[in-house]
Amino acid sequence: MRIILLGCPGAGKGTQAKFLAEKFHISQISTGDMLRQAIREGTPLGKKVKDILDAGQLVPDDVMIKLIEERIRQSDAANGFLLDGFPRTIPQAQALEQLTPIDYVIDIDVPEEEIVKRLSGRRTHPASGRTYHILYQPPRVADRDDVTGEPLIQRPDDSEETVRQRLQVYQTQTRPLRQYYQDHNNAAARHIPEYVFIDGTGSVNDIRHKILSQLHKEISI
Ligand code: AMP
Repeated sequence: MRIILLGCPGAGKGTQAKFLAEKFHISQISTGDMLRQAIREGTPLGKKVKDILDAGQLVPDDVMIKLIEERIRQSDAANGFLLDGFPRTIPQAQALEQLTPIDYVIDIDVPEEEIVKRLSGRRTHPASGRTYHILYQPPRVADRDDVTGEPLIQRPDDSEETVRQRLQVYQTQTRPLRQYYQDHNNAAARHIPEYVFIDGTGSVNDIRHKILSQLHKEISI
């Protein structure tokens, strides 16, 4: 099973990605998490992209394409994967087509006003990428990760100003992917992705069920 999760920042991609990856025994590949890890570790890639992430802008396509190409060649991706945060532009989508077939594009749609509310309350466990929300999905102990007990942080790009900037970038650069995948939709074909639209408002569980009810294709080769 190879899945792309589309949807604006804060649509719930990360939360659903974790669940789907476990359910189908596939690797979750979050390009945002990969970049943040590179920044934490101070690698050349991390140094190159830090200011871009802090500003809520997109990392250049050639950098991202190379990163994803290397990542999906790793052995744990052989059984399938779920892309969370890639592609984010049409050139990235076109490059991905040259690399691998995809079974599903799941597009989680949430209105913009709801997003700002969600992201400014989001808290993250940096090491695992697990996320919480101070009101909608609080950790068991305030400001602590449920699994490790380590402190949660607010991502620097989850401040309201940067969230608005990221949403604007999403509208101009990533939103065209919706039309792109709707036009390339083919439920019957094995190697053309099936486009699935999901109303992303409601509880985490509701959205999970909506997604599962739409996945019916056999696992691809
Ligand atoms: P995310 O955690 O998916 O919201 O990603 C955080 C940030 O990483 C984004 O705001 C971008 O700066 C960068 N990023 C992640 N994935 C991509 C991508 N596919 N193309 C360009 N920039 C990306």
